[in-house]
Amino acid sequence: MIGRLSVGQIKLLAQQVSTAALDLLFPPCCVNCERVGSFLCSRCLATVTQAPAREVAGLDGVRVRANFEGAISAAIHAFKYKRQTWLVQPLGGLLCEALQGVDWTVDVVSAVPLHAARLRERGYNQAALLADHLARERGWACRPSAIRRVRETASQVHLNAQERRANVADAFSADPESVRGQCVLIVDDVLTTGATLSACAEAVRAAGATRVYGATVAGAVYAASPAANALV
Ligand SMILES: [Zn+2]
Repeated sequence: MIGRLSVGQIKLLAQQVSTAALDLLFPPCCVNCERVGSFLCSRCLATVTQAPAREVAGLDGVRVRANFEGAISAAIHAFKYKRQTWLVQPLGGLLCEALQGVDWTVDVVSAVPLHAARLRERGYNQAALLADHLARERGWACRPSAIRRVRETASQVHLNAQERRANVADAFSADPESVRGQCVLIVDDVLTTGATLSACAEAVRAAGATRVYGATVAGAVYAASPAANALV
């Protein structure tokens, strides 16, 4: 039997066997309910509720998929703080759903950046992973590094809306080579007051973008959701 297989087929078979073995040893389980089979199970995904329409100053449009609660809040927390980067699949899927039926012209997808020190500590920018997922699905160009954080900002956890705006003002700059004359879509994981997206949009526009849009997986109501305030 083996004698009839090419080296390539044998390698593929070995790969499939080892993937199956790894799945047996470490089966994926739902980040919210721990049911075995996937990283965010269909039952938990079915509990997602559509976030209300939002507007953010400085953006030509913004789309938000889910209310920041329950399974989504658990998934985003693990994605952001527990290195569970494989959650980009279900969360990126929700981000794609946020843009269903939207007729925006998008030339470039970018992401809300982390400061270099935070990026080194975390090892990845969760917003950039989501931007990459969305851009691949939609066939758009992706330039996560088009927006840079030029200064470290204080944690937003205990800040009110006005303080958040002041905290992120002039914290970003954008690369004119990447955005000049372009319609730019900025991706983030959670929209709270919109202060961060707004400041990014200002930087992108200052660098010459013609239109600026935003999209996030989830939306949190600032005052009503202390759990979200602790995350964003
Ligand atoms: Zn589940």
